[in-house]
Amino acid sequence: MSERHNNSEDQFLIFGQPQIHQDEIDEVVDSLRKAWLGTGPKVSRFESEFARYKGTDSAHVAAVNSCTAALHISMLAAGIEPEDEVITTPMTFCATVNAIVHAGATPVLADIDPVSMNIDPAQIEKRITPRTRGVVPVHFAGRPCDMKSIMSLANKYGLKVIEDCAHAIESELDGRKAGTFGDFGCFSFYATKNVTTGEGGMILARDTSDIERAKILALHGMTKDAWKRFSDAGHVHYFVVECGFKYNMMDLQAAIGIHQLARVESSWNRRREIWERYQDEFSGLPVVRPTEPEAGSRHAYHLYTLQIDPKRCGISRDAFLDAMIDCRIGVGVHYLSIAQHPYYQQRFGWRPADYPNAWKVGEETVSLPLSPKLSQSDVERVIHNVRSILRS
Ligand SMILES: *Cc1c(COP(=O)(O)O)cnc(C)c1O
Repeated sequence: MSERHNNSEDQFLIFGQPQIHQDEIDEVVDSLRKAWLGTGPKVSRFESEFARYKGTDSAHVAAVNSCTAALHISMLAAGIEPEDEVITTPMTFCATVNAIVHAGATPVLADIDPVSMNIDPAQIEKRITPRTRGVVPVHFAGRPCDMKSIMSLANKYGLKVIEDCAHAIESELDGRKAGTFGDFGCFSFYATKNVTTGEGGMILARDTSDIERAKILALHGMTKDAWKRFSDAGHVHYFVVECGFKYNMMDLQAAIGIHQLARVESSWNRRREIWERYQDEFSGLPVVRPTEPEAGSRHAYHLYTLQIDPKRCGISRDAFLDAMIDCRIGVGVHYLSIAQHPYYQQRFGWRPADYPNAWKVGEETVSLPLSPKLSQSDVERVIHNVRSILRS
């Protein structure tokens, strides 16, 4: 224990803390000084710069106030209806599943591949029924799913594909960017994500008509021209054409996102450096490390996870989490498997053992800090403490 670095003078390393530069601060202050806080020119600029990053144009994107909202709206724009079934992974954040439920559909889980931790296409096919209408692959930790197999299943069975790209803004597969394989890609700009706006999200759609519908749904169901009421183009009446939601992004959020997005590649490089350093430093430990990125793919390095098997490590996952916190290092769990949560057990009768690969990850996984904000000495402190906890 004595060699453990739990000096109480160390600052607590907050897990997933974003890196905020002066540019973001100045841009937010500029919005405040202009007193234009809500949806306006900065949201438009953020949309077009995001679209450019994805190799497309503004007609294919819609900024919203979270990835959860993006998933919900995409589900509706995809035509998912009550009575429909939508297949997703048990190794994800609850919002993925909740969005399916909010659309009125029934979520169905298909277990993960234990190595990639992504949804296993063979398991998807086993769960397809005559009611299946959609599939929501999640590019877990930033590792792209097997989109070739998933898209061929989607074509074979006529399924809509909504990619949950919350971890995957930079991910690519065979030169194609995450979010451009399916009908929709949904992105998160939550505070811990690779690009942040505090809270925020983006919908990317293959068909521009889906974006038009998404924009109506995201702003009370008002006609598209309603977005123009924020401009000086003269008075425009809007009409409510369906019962929509209040999911629009504010300029205050886009102000942060514009500068975060400008640094997306340099932040990616810094996380990749840390991720690779962890891979090297932990190679001799009795843990399961993430598998290396597959050839022809680009990993977004959103999470770095270790699996702590108590039989091999001599310490339980939960005891490891507590030991890290004693060392003043914030850690995460991504995630308990979906079927471990009481709500889903009660509502859908799911049992963790029905998804054994996700269950095992859910019981053993730990996420280490991986923010571009980490200094070199923060990274050394994480490495030192992980090694000493697992060796003691
Ligand atoms: C963060 C996250 C979401 C939800 O994103 P919000 O922007 O917080 O709504 C959805 N899916 C996954 C996999 C996530 O990690």
